[in-house]
Amino acid sequence: MVELDRVSKTYAGGVHALKEVSLRIGAGEMCAIVGPSGSGKSTMLNLIGTLDRPSEGAVRIDGFDVAKLKDKQLSALRATRIGFVFQSFHLAVGQRVLDNVADGLLYSGRRGPERRIRAAEALEKVGLSHRLEHLPNELSGGERQRVAVARAIVGEPAVLLADEPTGNLDSASGSGVMALLHELHGAGTTIVVITHDRDIARSLPRQVAMRDGEVAA
Ligand code: ADP
Repeated sequence: MVELDRVSKTYAGGVHALKEVSLRIGAGEMCAIVGPSGSGKSTMLNLIGTLDRPSEGAVRIDGFDVAKLKDKQLSALRATRIGFVFQSFHLAVGQRVLDNVADGLLYSGRRGPERRIRAAEALEKVGLSHRLEHLPNELSGGERQRVAVARAIVGEPAVLLADEPTGNLDSASGSGVMALLHELHGAGTTIVVITHDRDIARSLPRQVAMRDGEVAA
């Protein structure tokens, strides 16, 4: 599902953020990318999420070679095959929960009513059927992150990419969100969690440990 083949990323100024990293994540896997600050996790997230292109090497997502796609095709790949969950939720504040999730299908070509039906189904999966009409600021942090997960999975992406998904949550809500990710994994979703938290990494079936831009273990 995700393949990095000797991928390097050098930023302007000559920082070698990733050095010949090779990594394969198979369909249905759940994997942590773990490492201290500065080890290259965000750079990896940006490459796997097709938000950036490598300086060298190849990135393939669901079989598509990112380097061979034009910008428009890359946006389409991202919109249809990758679901993102961020530390700070990134929900639209003035929009009810149902519409926040339905917006995850804006680029799917589905019409409004169908987007909302699918959004309601995704919200049921994350246990928030009773919150459809609420605004994000009427929810707890844990519930907001569940909304963000619903938005990320509503289009049934090939890969769910979660960037420090529990970073802004108390430990009980954080455990709830991790339990939800485990549940989705159990149902077949491929999940990559970026984290600096070793306990969270240890709770996942596979850990890729980053250090100084390289896979250390
Ligand atoms: P992490 O997410 O593990 O903290 P990053 O991928 O953000 O690590 O950073 C890896 C290295 O690349 C660090 O040395 C960081 O300072 C550098 N870096 C990250 N983004 C940029 C950028 N846009 N321009 C220059 N250097 C960057």
